[in-house]
Amino acid sequence: MKKKQKGFSTLAIHAGQIVEPQTGSLTTPIYQTSTFVFDSLEDGAQKFAGEKPGYIYSRLGNPTVALFEQKMAALENGEAALAFSSGMGAISALMIGLIKSGEHILCSRGLYGCAYGLLVMLKERFGVEFSLVDMRDEQQVANAIQPNTRLIYIETPINPTLEMADLRKISKLAKQHNAKLIVDNTFMTPYLQRPLEMGADFVVHSATKYIGGHGDLIAGVAVGSKREMDRLRQTTLKDVGSALGPNEAFLLNRGLKTLSIRMDRHCANALEVAKFLEKHPRVKSVYYPGLATFRQYELGCRQLNDFGGLVSFEIEGGTTQVAEIINQLKMIKIAVSLGDADSLIQHPATMTHAVVPPEVRAAMGISDGLIRLSVGIEDVEDIIDDLNLGLK
Ligand SMILES: *Cc1c(COP(=O)(O)O)cnc(C)c1O
Repeated sequence: MKKKQKGFSTLAIHAGQIVEPQTGSLTTPIYQTSTFVFDSLEDGAQKFAGEKPGYIYSRLGNPTVALFEQKMAALENGEAALAFSSGMGAISALMIGLIKSGEHILCSRGLYGCAYGLLVMLKERFGVEFSLVDMRDEQQVANAIQPNTRLIYIETPINPTLEMADLRKISKLAKQHNAKLIVDNTFMTPYLQRPLEMGADFVVHSATKYIGGHGDLIAGVAVGSKREMDRLRQTTLKDVGSALGPNEAFLLNRGLKTLSIRMDRHCANALEVAKFLEKHPRVKSVYYPGLATFRQYELGCRQLNDFGGLVSFEIEGGTTQVAEIINQLKMIKIAVSLGDADSLIQHPATMTHAVVPPEVRAAMGISDGLIRLSVGIEDVEDIIDDLNLGLK
């Protein structure tokens, strides 16, 4: 009989965790060490040859980091995971490890700015082609696939408009064309969306956001097949080298234990906030996948377990009016990043998307009146009171 898989919250707490044998420590300690001692030359040689398990040097693996990797693999329902020192570390390791010059990467338009910057660098310096497509429309995706397309790289929902891609349909397309599908699952976390179960080959995260959840670290992670993760560990993790440190790994292991209850609160608060904004006379439109009025509400219901903690909204006017609103907020902080316990608000046109040319921004649906709010886990009445103050 197949063993029944434990529930998500149970896995988040127990997956990979073993009581430390020497002291009985419940939590896995911070193994603050760069290197690991071998018993003998033979022991070292066997570990280097991969004939014997065990740690060698913390860039290649560290017990505190390994626990985080095991937890993330279990939560995403993948075979193995690799931890990195940032989300961009994970994204660049995957791209560099999976693409060659002359090949093509198809991406969702409106990509995270630094992922876009990486693609430009790969193109200009290494001859990798890429193009951007509106991933809401499978026909457009199918038409944009080229004979040399080896990777499809998707963020869904995307920042800050929360447009979504149908992961089941796009993974089918990827398979038909012998391309690998990478999904950036930062906005949803494995609690709300599990791309590997829908046919994706790889998942990446900025663990800086909900996975850590407390705004106190920078980290990244990739999940996929054991074969590919082993290969990437020996190449773009080992030789490019953005390895995660044990202190950050400890905080991530701690953060993961409360991921499900934090996400439940983020989602409940965000829905309340979205409903409040929808009724406010100064608000022109609200982008939140959990609103029945959202263009892709149906897809969200099929693909997501809940709708996440990010709400974007558009007000009458532009940058001046946005400044009038957000400068008056008392509790909600003006800051980029997202997924923290604290509510954070930002203005894409002058902040996260300032480098995108205005006409490209407009085509992506990012006007000067658009505001993005990462709804925190404070009492929702206090979040709404603060927004009311700003919108007066
Ligand atoms: C923040 C973010 C990244 C980059 O992650 P870092 O941890 O800052 O390197 C990538 N993708 C998305 C969707 C993000 O929000």
